[in-house]
Amino acid sequence: MEFQQQLKDLSRNLYWTWQPEMIDIFRDIDPGLWRAVNHNPIEFLSRISPEKLEEKADDLALNARINHAFHHLKNYLQDDMTWGNLHAAALHAHPVAYFSAEFGLHESLPLYSGGLGVLAGDHLKSASDLGVPVVGVGLFYAQGYFNQRMTEDGWQTETYFASDVNKLPIKKAKGGDGAPLEVEVRTRTSAIKAHVWSASVGRNSLVLLDSDVGSNSRQDRTLTSTLYGGDDYTRIRQELLLGVGGLRALHKLNINPGVLHLNEGHSAFAILEHARKLMELESRPFDEAREKTAQKVVFTTHTPMESGHDRFHPHMVSEVLDPMRNDLDLSHDHLLSLGRINPHDQNEHFCMTVLGLKSSRFTNAVSSINARTTWKMWNAILPGPSQHETAINHITNGIHVASWLAVPMAHLYTRYLGKNWEKRLCDPGTWEGLKNLDDDEFWEHLQVLKAQLIRFIHREVCSKCGGKSGNLLTAHEKLRLSSSTLTIGFSRRFSEYKRAFLILNDLERLDHIVNHPDRPVQIIFSGKAHPANKQGKTLLQKIIKVSRDPRFLGRVIFIEDYDINVGRHLVQGVDLWLNTPRRPLEACGTSGQKAVLNGGLNLSTLDGWWPEAFDGKNGFAIGDDTQHSDPAEQDRRDTESLYKTLEETVVPMFYDRRENGIPREWISFQKHAIHTIARRFNASRMVKDYTLHAYLPAVGARTCSHRNGTEY
Ligand SMILES: *Cc1c(COP(=O)(O)O)cnc(C)c1O
Repeated sequence: MEFQQQLKDLSRNLYWTWQPEMIDIFRDIDPGLWRAVNHNPIEFLSRISPEKLEEKADDLALNARINHAFHHLKNYLQDDMTWGNLHAAALHAHPVAYFSAEFGLHESLPLYSGGLGVLAGDHLKSASDLGVPVVGVGLFYAQGYFNQRMTEDGWQTETYFASDVNKLPIKKAKGGDGAPLEVEVRTRTSAIKAHVWSASVGRNSLVLLDSDVGSNSRQDRTLTSTLYGGDDYTRIRQELLLGVGGLRALHKLNINPGVLHLNEGHSAFAILEHARKLMELESRPFDEAREKTAQKVVFTTHTPMESGHDRFHPHMVSEVLDPMRNDLDLSHDHLLSLGRINPHDQNEHFCMTVLGLKSSRFTNAVSSINARTTWKMWNAILPGPSQHETAINHITNGIHVASWLAVPMAHLYTRYLGKNWEKRLCDPGTWEGLKNLDDDEFWEHLQVLKAQLIRFIHREVCSKCGGKSGNLLTAHEKLRLSSSTLTIGFSRRFSEYKRAFLILNDLERLDHIVNHPDRPVQIIFSGKAHPANKQGKTLLQKIIKVSRDPRFLGRVIFIEDYDINVGRHLVQGVDLWLNTPRRPLEACGTSGQKAVLNGGLNLSTLDGWWPEAFDGKNGFAIGDDTQHSDPAEQDRRDTESLYKTLEETVVPMFYDRRENGIPREWISFQKHAIHTIARRFNASRMVKDYTLHAYLPAVGARTCSHRNGTEY
């Protein structure tokens, strides 16, 4: 086949996003353009003439590489010696439908805002690698989340760009008759129609609903244009489309899911649609249909923040669910009771999480501490703990290794862990080879990665602002960033509980730490605040202000417009990953896992995944495993612990160069971190856990009891 067609085929399956061999081909053709199109191969190819491509292919002898990559993809798609074929064959006829409001697969497909979406993306990718049939179900947000710009005085502004669907790796899903699919969901006052797009994620696919249909009302046409935008009324209709429309789309595609995995409550209306379908097909009454539906539902709850759980006014629920209520033959009160903690409380709003928790066979939190918090939050509706189990399971989140690992590190691992180590991620034996890893060689690799990060920062901070923003680094500031300086990364959503302010609480003390004459420190911040979150924006403004304070110029940096690309550079290049959530409000957090994989160490409160991983020699803890009843007091204690740990432990250890100029103890921590963490906190282990403990029991393929958590 002609190489141009092969390149096109490669660009159409998101498999390339975790194949460095394929990424390199695009980059090598035109590095500047590759960056300019935000690593979008479809747009990239549209901007190069066939003649130019031909010429480049000749110059760079690309034909063989493209051919090789193409056959690599083909073999991957045809391979049937997968873990899934061995262990989860029952899911082939009835795959898992994985519903999520966001999917973070790559920076060029902006359907995510943060951790929840990246988790969903990593889940799909790992399921593909394992050969576990999972079809993602989501919404197509033409304008995504938002692009972040900071004004002169450090205030976040949001801009929205409409994606050009012709430049995204999606295609219209077709029905049996070859015509593009459309689904319709009725509310009391309208009938919302949606196109169905499909994207290929390795062996799996992602189905996306898009309400921009000509015959919709103007309001409905823009229903899916932005993620987490709009008011409650927009939100509930988006969720109606996601849950009900999503399941209808699968049926029209002849996909008959054996499992409905709901990633948070946003999609919980899928439960009602599934019950409705059963009533129609098997003439069952609602209660039976719901009971039978629940046997298929896996519900994952993440956040312990109240605001993270959608609650809708009963009037609003009536407005959007009345047609469904008729089909289900339910009274208004009965329907509302499904989403109420106290079914008889007429004043209680309808909560999507309650609907999910009450109608699922398997519910789980995403870390051990998160399970305890979740239990406290929802124990009124969760079954009581039995003798051997607590009532709520936990499956700790993990990361898709190939998406987050820096290429030089991957080579190093291959050399020391052996070929195909990435297929044996969860075997303890796989990581034993680290013992032979040469300290000097390891350290050398990390310096290269840090230098790459600094180049990225120079480019990002300067180019993005177009020379206008006050965020622009002067030549002087640029010089201050150094690859021999201890570099701390902090990037995430700017929610209050994540406490980005912790390290800024005492600027004088920070000044001493950052500007120490022999042991300097530089801190890189990045992250977005939700457009409606004033508190988060105020915090961002504070960071911008600090970054422009003469004491911190060039030592405290803020990178605008946090996304998967910025995140990838940061986790691959920093020495220390700072994570300061107020215990126990972090669901899991995964960015610290990405840092470890690339040789970074964590400095984190004992929240989310960290208490499960921290052993005293693989990173650092802020505070201990207690929490004070007064959050202000907790913040004071954690601030003190953070500074003290930096001053007395982290910085001295990093700069202890008595042995051949490299920090031996720091390096032993790094190796120990990879050894103890990479094997457990990856998405391959996570998807296997879901498959064995939740998916297979749901299709009746294996009766394995729901153990709480997993032995690794
Ligand atoms: C990994 C990742 C997250 C998750 O970060 P946590 O703060 O650890 O939950 C969020 N956003 C992006 C872009 C990521 O890559």
